[in-house]
Amino acid sequence: MAHLNQRRPQNINGDFYVDSTCIDCDTCRWMTPEIFHRVDEQSAVYHQPTNETERLAALQALLACPTSSIGTVEKPKDIKLAQQSFPILVAENIYHCGYHSENSYGAASYLIQLPEGNILVDSPRFTPPLVKRLEEFGKISYMYLT
Ligand code: SF4
Repeated sequence: MAHLNQRRPQNINGDFYVDSTCIDCDTCRWMTPEIFHRVDEQSAVYHQPTNETERLAALQALLACPTSSIGTVEKPKDIKLAQQSFPILVAENIYHCGYHSENSYGAASYLIQLPEGNILVDSPRFTPPLVKRLEEFGKISYMYLT
């Protein structure tokens, strides 16, 4: 959980912020470049979401952050919507799992859905909402570590 008292001064004013625990893994910036950028070797919010699409993208980055360094001033009542949006479709049958793990320095994990059994590429952080969603996608038959 991000801490407001550790909010980086490089963030623009508003609800979303990055705190000083950011490990500069780049996840939020490639997932949601319209909200997050890099300044002084860590991430910061430079644009607050102004519509539902931007807000969902910012919440997805919040959930994907391996160190929970992204926070909101107001408790996000729509966090479940963001939880349910994972895994995110990125190509025909390939999904980005989100929930990056600090143990892999924020590396992305992907699910490949196949009729003969799904493949999990690298491991996301263990998180019950994601486990439930992955189960809904069917059995994971293989795990591929890069
Ligand atoms: S995802 Fe988290 S740790 Fe990674 S750059 Fe963004 S705020 Fe920092």
